[in-house]
Amino acid sequence: MAQVGVNPYEMALEQLKTVAKRMKLDPNLHEVLKHPMRSLEVYLPVRMDNGTIKVFTGYRVQHSMARGPAKGGVRFHQNVTLDEVKALSMWMTWKCAVVGIPYGGAKGGVIVNPKDLTDSELERLARRYFSEISIIIGEQKDIPAPDVNTNAQTMAWFMDTYSMGKGYAVPAIVTGKPVDLGGSEGREKATSRGISFCVREAAKVLHFDLHGATVAIQGFGNVGGNSAPLLAEMGCKIVAVSDVSGGIHDPKGFDVPKLMAYVKQSGGVKGFPGSKDISNAQLLELKVDVLVPAALEGVITKENAPKIDCKILAEGANGPTTPEADEILLKKGVFVIPDVLCNAGGVTASYFEWVQGLQSFFWTEAEVNEKLNEIMTKAFHQVHDIWLRETKVSPLTMRQAAYMLAVQRVADAVRKRGIFP
Ligand code: GLU
Repeated sequence: MAQVGVNPYEMALEQLKTVAKRMKLDPNLHEVLKHPMRSLEVYLPVRMDNGTIKVFTGYRVQHSMARGPAKGGVRFHQNVTLDEVKALSMWMTWKCAVVGIPYGGAKGGVIVNPKDLTDSELERLARRYFSEISIIIGEQKDIPAPDVNTNAQTMAWFMDTYSMGKGYAVPAIVTGKPVDLGGSEGREKATSRGISFCVREAAKVLHFDLHGATVAIQGFGNVGGNSAPLLAEMGCKIVAVSDVSGGIHDPKGFDVPKLMAYVKQSGGVKGFPGSKDISNAQLLELKVDVLVPAALEGVITKENAPKIDCKILAEGANGPTTPEADEILLKKGVFVIPDVLCNAGGVTASYFEWVQGLQSFFWTEAEVNEKLNEIMTKAFHQVHDIWLRETKVSPLTMRQAAYMLAVQRVADAVRKRGIFP
């Protein structure tokens, strides 16, 4: 799904290698962490509405269970590859470790453009996929969640499929469910809320006022779409947004509630009254204070990194920046809040949802947001403290600092548990 020429798994291995070297990680532990625990490939026959059968391909990769059950979303996208899902599963391991929640990492994907399917075809595909991967998942083993092009409805089908097999409702088998099926208040906006907390903390350490700060957001799905009002609430001016249909720009800043209403009604950002059209590529190169890539991986590369012109790059997407681009941004002095920290609010609220489901005891949205704030703020400063300490030795990115924290935590767990048998 990444840009042509960018292999996400190679990116993930490169990121790990750089940090392993810097922290003098035991080569044996490095060898273990390079590989996922297991990858499952499934073929999914689905009866289409016209009576024909189509077979789709799907994956579930579990990278690590060293610190707890594997955790991570499932995406439906036409460009899903096994290497992409492997990378995403590894990034989930680091993400859960950065915020200190007791999970390993996993990811799933199905090669499909959901827009090509009717609702009933999509439901049959989702159910068949979940049924096929149920041999490796479980509420104490691996807990899926939404990702690109999947949502609370998809999770409801997943949960029902699994529960039918068990004979009773098993809410803790997935997170990101509808609230009335055991989902958590605040989960839907949690990724975006986490991003806004990270941007707030970044502005503090950079002594930078967010009032009137200009923001461009690439991607207007769950993550990008919910980030706009949360950043606007903090005083930011949202000057550009984009989605698959293209982008829009208004240097004066959008009226965000009006924009949200427009997108809801028209299905995309394009054509929003008073805005000028721009491409996704142009959006990334706008001169802004905060840039939020919230779409797919591999969009900031060595080609466009020299033209990135922001103070804070807040990674809403997973893997938007390639290792070569990271080097360029570091030299340019762009403050990158890496994905494994910046978008960890989603999985953190998933953890809250899982805990609530296991206990059948539910929290208010205020409680969820408060605990999310605590965890994200603490993680931000733990990473930033490592960055401050290490940067005195030699320059490094915030991503490398986050990896140093995460890889240490995971490596310690692997070492203490030992290699079986
Ligand atoms: N798909 C989200 C992510 O990439 C959430 C995963 C989860 O909640 O398990 O972090």
